[in-house]
Amino acid sequence: MIQRISSETLGEALGRVGLRSTRQRELVFDVLMQTDAHPTADEVLARAREVMPSISLATVYNCLETLVECALVKAVNLEREPTRYCANLREHGHFHDVTSGNVYDVPLSNELLENVMKQVPEGFIVERIELNFIGRRLLRGTQKPL
Ligand SMILES: [Zn+2]
Repeated sequence: MIQRISSETLGEALGRVGLRSTRQRELVFDVLMQTDAHPTADEVLARAREVMPSISLATVYNCLETLVECALVKAVNLEREPTRYCANLREHGHFHDVTSGNVYDVPLSNELLENVMKQVPEGFIVERIELNFIGRRLLRGTQKPL
Protein backbone atom coordinates (compact mmCIF):
# COMPACT_ATOMS: atom_id res chain seq x y z
CA MET A 1 0.00 0.00 0.00
CA ILE A 2 1.42 3.33 -1.02
CA GLN A 3 1.24 6.07 1.57
CA ARG A 4 0.18 9.31 -0.02
CA ILE A 5 -0.84 12.71 1.19
CA SER A 6 -4.24 14.26 0.41
CA SER A 7 -4.73 17.51 -1.50
CA GLU A 8 -5.98 19.09 1.72
CA THR A 9 -2.70 18.29 3.40
CA LEU A 10 -0.86 19.67 0.35
CA GLY A 11 -2.22 23.14 1.19
CA GLU A 12 -1.14 22.76 4.81
CA ALA A 13 2.34 21.53 3.86
CA LEU A 14 2.85 24.39 1.43
CA GLY A 15 1.55 26.84 4.03
CA ARG A 16 4.20 25.67 6.51
CA VAL A 17 6.92 26.95 4.16
CA GLY A 18 5.03 30.13 3.38
CA LEU A 19 3.65 29.03 0.01
CA ARG A 20 0.07 28.83 -1.07
CA SER A 21 -1.55 26.03 -2.94
CA THR A 22 -2.12 27.03 -6.57
CA ARG A 23 -4.13 25.18 -9.22
CA GLN A 24 -0.88 24.33 -10.98
CA ARG A 25 0.77 22.92 -7.84
CA GLU A 26 -2.34 20.90 -7.05
CA LEU A 27 -2.50 19.57 -10.59
CA VAL A 28 1.17 18.53 -10.69
CA PHE A 29 0.77 16.90 -7.28
CA ASP A 30 -2.39 15.09 -8.41
CA VAL A 31 -0.59 13.78 -11.51
CA LEU A 32 2.12 12.29 -9.29
CA MET A 33 -0.38 10.85 -6.80
CA GLN A 34 -2.19 9.02 -9.59
CA THR A 35 0.81 7.04 -10.80
CA ASP A 36 3.48 4.67 -9.54
CA ALA A 37 5.44 5.07 -12.79
CA HIS A 38 7.95 7.69 -11.54
CA PRO A 39 7.36 10.10 -14.44
CA THR A 40 9.88 12.62 -15.74
CA ALA A 41 8.98 16.33 -15.88
CA ASP A 42 8.07 15.90 -19.57
CA GLU A 43 5.72 13.05 -18.72
CA VAL A 44 4.16 15.07 -15.88
CA LEU A 45 3.68 17.92 -18.37
CA ALA A 46 1.89 15.65 -20.86
CA ARG A 47 -0.51 14.38 -18.20
CA ALA A 48 -1.05 17.85 -16.70
CA ARG A 49 -1.88 19.27 -20.15
CA GLU A 50 -4.78 16.81 -20.45
CA VAL A 51 -6.40 18.85 -17.65
CA MET A 52 -4.80 22.27 -18.13
CA PRO A 53 -3.66 22.64 -21.78
CA SER A 54 -1.98 26.00 -21.12
CA ILE A 55 0.46 24.78 -18.43
CA SER A 56 4.12 25.19 -19.47
CA LEU A 57 7.15 22.99 -18.86
CA ALA A 58 8.73 25.82 -16.82
CA THR A 59 5.67 25.90 -14.54
CA VAL A 60 5.76 22.12 -14.17
CA TYR A 61 9.47 22.29 -13.24
CA ASN A 62 8.78 25.05 -10.70
CA CYS A 63 5.92 23.07 -9.16
CA LEU A 64 8.03 19.89 -8.98
CA GLU A 65 10.91 21.81 -7.36
CA THR A 66 8.55 23.28 -4.76
CA LEU A 67 6.99 19.89 -3.98
CA VAL A 68 10.46 18.33 -3.58
CA GLU A 69 11.60 21.21 -1.32
CA CYS A 70 8.49 20.68 0.84
CA ALA A 71 9.31 16.94 1.03
CA LEU A 72 5.92 16.10 -0.50
CA VAL A 73 7.55 14.43 -3.49
CA LYS A 74 10.86 12.63 -3.96
CA ALA A 75 13.21 13.40 -6.83
CA VAL A 76 14.68 10.17 -8.15
CA ASN A 77 18.06 10.69 -9.76
CA LEU A 78 19.45 7.83 -11.81
CA GLU A 79 22.69 7.85 -13.77
CA ARG A 80 22.43 9.43 -17.23
CA GLU A 81 18.64 9.67 -16.92
CA PRO A 82 16.36 12.67 -16.51
CA THR A 83 15.10 13.18 -12.95
CA ARG A 84 11.94 11.28 -12.15
CA TYR A 85 9.40 12.11 -9.48
CA CYS A 86 7.67 9.97 -6.87
CA ALA A 87 4.79 10.76 -4.49
CA ASN A 88 5.23 7.62 -2.36
CA LEU A 89 6.20 9.09 1.01
CA ARG A 90 7.11 5.83 2.71
CA GLU A 91 10.82 5.11 3.07
CA HIS A 92 11.69 3.16 -0.04
CA GLY A 93 14.41 2.57 -2.56
CA HIS A 94 14.08 2.33 -6.32
CA PHE A 95 14.76 -0.49 -8.74
CA HIS A 96 15.72 0.72 -12.21
CA ASP A 97 15.10 -1.85 -14.94
CA VAL A 98 17.70 -0.89 -17.55
CA THR A 99 15.92 -2.94 -20.23
CA SER A 100 12.56 -1.18 -20.07
CA GLY A 101 13.65 2.03 -18.33
CA ASN A 102 10.89 1.47 -15.75
CA VAL A 103 11.45 2.37 -12.12
CA TYR A 104 9.81 0.40 -9.31
CA ASP A 105 9.50 1.14 -5.60
CA VAL A 106 11.40 -1.18 -3.27
CA PRO A 107 9.94 -1.10 0.25
CA LEU A 108 12.56 -0.73 3.00
CA SER A 109 11.62 -2.19 6.38
CA ASN A 110 12.31 -0.29 9.59
CA GLU A 111 14.58 -3.17 10.64
CA LEU A 112 16.66 -2.79 7.47
CA LEU A 113 16.86 1.00 7.86
CA GLU A 114 17.92 0.66 11.51
CA ASN A 115 20.70 -1.74 10.50
CA VAL A 116 21.86 0.57 7.70
CA MET A 117 21.84 3.57 10.06
CA LYS A 118 24.22 1.70 12.41
CA GLN A 119 26.82 1.86 9.62
CA VAL A 120 26.86 5.66 9.46
CA PRO A 121 30.23 7.03 10.64
CA GLU A 122 30.18 8.57 14.09
CA GLY A 123 29.82 12.33 14.13
CA PHE A 124 27.43 12.51 11.16
CA ILE A 125 23.68 12.83 10.88
CA VAL A 126 21.70 11.37 7.97
CA GLU A 127 19.43 13.87 6.22
CA ARG A 128 18.01 11.42 3.71
CA ILE A 129 18.64 7.98 2.32
CA GLU A 130 18.68 7.27 -1.40
CA LEU A 131 18.95 3.62 -2.30
CA ASN A 132 18.90 2.67 -5.99
CA PHE A 133 19.03 -0.84 -7.40
CA ILE A 134 20.00 -1.22 -11.06
CA GLY A 135 19.22 -4.40 -12.95
CA ARG A 136 17.04 -6.12 -15.46
CA ARG A 137 14.01 -8.38 -15.53
CA LEU A 138 14.62 -12.13 -15.62
CA LEU A 139 13.30 -14.35 -18.40
CA ARG A 140 10.06 -15.79 -17.04
CA GLY A 141 10.75 -18.89 -14.91
CA THR A 142 14.54 -18.65 -15.21
CA GLN A 143 17.48 -16.91 -13.53
CA LYS A 144 18.60 -15.52 -16.92
CA PRO A 145 18.31 -11.81 -17.57
CA LEU A 146 16.22 -10.69 -20.55
ZN1 LIG B 1 9.33 5.79 -5.60
